[in-house]
Formats: sequence, C-alpha cells, structure tokens
Amino acid sequence: MSVSNRAFELADRRAEEERAAGIRRVQQAIRAAIDVTASSFCDCGERIPDARRQAVPTTTRCIDCETFIERQSRRRA
Ligand SMILES: [Zn+2]
Repeated sequence: MSVSNRAFELADRRAEEERAAGIRRVQQAIRAAIDVTASSFCDCGERIPDARRQAVPTTTRCIDCETFIERQSRRRA
C-alpha cells in the first residue's frame, strides 16, 4: 500500500469517527431534552409516580406539591 493510500484511509476513518461522535452528541442532547421536559422528579426531589405522569403528562410536581400550590392559589383567589 502506498503512503498516500494509507493517509486517505486514516482520513476516512477519522471522518467516520467524527460522524459517529456527532451522532452520539445529538442523541445525548435529545435524551437530555426529553429528561428535562418529562422529568420524573418534582422540584422537591420527590419522584412523580408513573401513573400520575401518564394521567397528567405536563405535570412537573408531585402530588404533595401540587396540592400545596393549589391550596395556596385558592387562598389567594
Ligand atoms: Zn414535590
């Protein structure tokens, strides 16, 4: 194999690795975004039950916090 062929082969492999790394980065970013939007944990650190997340997919609070905040807003109203 000539030197130039070897250089091409290395450049090829490097491009392939960079492509793979780029895809991994994108996948990690997507996973991180999903984790943030569909966090299974409340701000207080309590885990939000799966049943509750399925019933109210947009919820970001556990039942205790939700009840507390609802009670507060009702008192204010
Ligand atoms: Zn909570």
